[in-house]
Amino acid sequence: MNFEAVKGQDKVVRVLLTVLESRKIPSVFLFSGPDGVGKKLVAEIFIKTVLCEAQDKKQGPCGACPSCLAVERGVHPDFKIVDGAYQANLREEEISKQRTLRVDTIRHLRSEMSMEPLMGGWKAAVIVDAETLEIESSNALLKILEEPPRKTFWILLSSRPQALPKTILSRALKISFAPIAKKMVKEILAEKGVQADQAVELCAGSAGKALEFSMRENWPEVLTERPLSAIEAAESLPRDLPSARREAEIIFFSLSENLRKSYLRGKISLANFEKAAGDIAWLKNAVRSNADPRSSVLLACVEAQKAGLLR
Ligand SMILES: [Zn+2]
Repeated sequence: MNFEAVKGQDKVVRVLLTVLESRKIPSVFLFSGPDGVGKKLVAEIFIKTVLCEAQDKKQGPCGACPSCLAVERGVHPDFKIVDGAYQANLREEEISKQRTLRVDTIRHLRSEMSMEPLMGGWKAAVIVDAETLEIESSNALLKILEEPPRKTFWILLSSRPQALPKTILSRALKISFAPIAKKMVKEILAEKGVQADQAVELCAGSAGKALEFSMRENWPEVLTERPLSAIEAAESLPRDLPSARREAEIIFFSLSENLRKSYLRGKISLANFEKAAGDIAWLKNAVRSNADPRSSVLLACVEAQKAGLLR
């Protein structure tokens, strides 16, 4: 796995290669952009390159040194990925229960990152969905970022960076990931043997979502851009619970993307966009942890309507 595996993010890759060449690694990065556009993949390859033991790594990691092999096997002791799985493991709970990143998780991460690197180079941590940090967790993280342990760097990933405290944002080198062009999404799907034109049309430049959508047979009407009332959207969910959850997830995604587009076109205000996007993200998490999909979709559509969408 190297930078050639990254599709549709040439600008981001160029910036990161320049950072590598300068040999000055900033201690905090923020990778922002929609879900499913390659933020995590790029973070992993960038870290793999910094940790790589080869002399010449201008174009990326060598893929053959002990450090590269350890990253590929997911066992590198100096590289932490902090996400629901990391927290679930610490708390001995199910992954689906990890809705927010808790302060204990950040404290644990801090102690892991404070130890000397075991393989002799840098230590790196990726914080996935950084917008899910609780207030106390953000404060704990800020303390670390103010005085990061020696030879460590941190990459925060977020689809809603506006939800992060300004004190954290101001410390980070910001790299923004754009939605991927349709043609490229098609190529990414084709490499995986998937052809799904409707999924490509509706994925809003997210290859991850296109793959997820390509698995489905029917499309909820809310995605066809026909103005739909909140009640109609909620009623359109299938009766069985697992399908209703999957459908709800797509409606939340579609509403958030439409809100983002309306905001970028100047049709709704920033305040309205942030409020509705935040509420919808919250409802999405609620459904993942067992809230009723029908009433959550109803509320999400009402929020989108209040913000000026779906009128
Ligand atoms: Zn290497």
